[in-house]
Amino acid sequence: MKILVINTGSSSIKYKLFEMDSQRLLASGMAERIGESQSVLTYKVISEKNKEHVSEINATIHDHKHGLLRIVDLLADKTSGVIADKTDISAIGHRVVHGGEQFKHPILIDDTVIHAIRNHIPLAPLHNPSNLAGIEIARSIFPDSAQVAVFDTAFHQTIPTKAFLYAIPYNLYENKSIRRYGFHGTSHANVVDKFSAYVGMQSSELNLITIHLGNGSSMAAIKNGQCVDTTMGMTPLEGLVMGTRSGDVDPSIPFFLSRHLKMNWNDVETLLNKESGLKGICGTNDMREILQRRDAGDTLADIAVEVYCYRVKKYIGAYYAVLGRLDGIIFTAGIGENSPQIRELSCSGLGASMGISIDSKKNETHGNDIREIQSETSKIKIMVIPTDEELAIAQETKKIVDAFKSK
Ligand code: ADP
Repeated sequence: MKILVINTGSSSIKYKLFEMDSQRLLASGMAERIGESQSVLTYKVISEKNKEHVSEINATIHDHKHGLLRIVDLLADKTSGVIADKTDISAIGHRVVHGGEQFKHPILIDDTVIHAIRNHIPLAPLHNPSNLAGIEIARSIFPDSAQVAVFDTAFHQTIPTKAFLYAIPYNLYENKSIRRYGFHGTSHANVVDKFSAYVGMQSSELNLITIHLGNGSSMAAIKNGQCVDTTMGMTPLEGLVMGTRSGDVDPSIPFFLSRHLKMNWNDVETLLNKESGLKGICGTNDMREILQRRDAGDTLADIAVEVYCYRVKKYIGAYYAVLGRLDGIIFTAGIGENSPQIRELSCSGLGASMGISIDSKKNETHGNDIREIQSETSKIKIMVIPTDEELAIAQETKKIVDAFKSK
């Protein structure tokens, strides 16, 4: 069974095609700058021997439908394609950012589900409209394939009221659904499953802190396999310092910007989402470049790294307190998987007080494997676990399709 996973953004479509019987990635890529005169289409074919062949095509992609049609053409290309035609694709898994309180699990998409995702647009105005467009276009191009929505928020729906409720008038929760939802749920769930398989225990026996550090970053506290708190909030803006998002700030700062700098609300929103975080402090959101600059003695790069890791460390302490007993800490995503310095700084000084200590040598090892990096004296397992959100979406999609077929 072949499953296509798509993640539709406002001007892009990321895609991955999997052969589910072997869990193998067949092809992946992205249509970028959709609607602009110089769009870019990338197409990567992965051979059975894991050899990659990447092509980049400059084109004009008028809109998302045109983009997805071009992707299908590439996948079905006579010489470099991986499918005979579009009917080879049995199902499509869609990443949907916000499912609110309604969606606690992935779901087969029908008109009712589309209506509900549309109803959640006020909670995710930057993401749900494009996710929805992707679904509608895919339904028109693949009328006979099952379409499944996998929500970023779903895994966090077990968070109790005391952790999800903001201390603002209660009617804003009741009538306007203002509360913490959390995001990156597919990734947090994926690394919890991998940790549990690695240690050979049920996830229901495990208390974990999962740390997803990518361009967007978030942490989650997992008690007996279920999420009980997470750093992102009603939107992905809250919590950790991110590439361009501020994470936690005093809620009065927007008023100050409005009153004293005469900024309008759209500009404030852009400032906090696109001009803040690492980029706001030192001018770039690329952690690799920041670490190089820091090594070369750049003061602002050093401050950015210090602020970034301090926030992670603060939440490790908070979540340890929430969980009471801790079995493991997991680092994942671009920065979490690849940066020994960030892992080291985020856990520094936690040995004596919390029994959390990293072995510098193990921490330096690179690779795509799951690995333990705690020291011999550490009471807590510290692990690097690569996340694969798209494969996880494909697996969830397959489960839904199989369950539907067996009905
Ligand atoms: P996204 O949220 O866009 O999926 P990723 O999970 O790919 O992001 O993470 C992107 C971040 O990972 C970037 O800041 C990048 O610089 C950082 N990164 C990737 N490789 C390394 C590395 N070897 N060392 C430090 N940071 C890295």
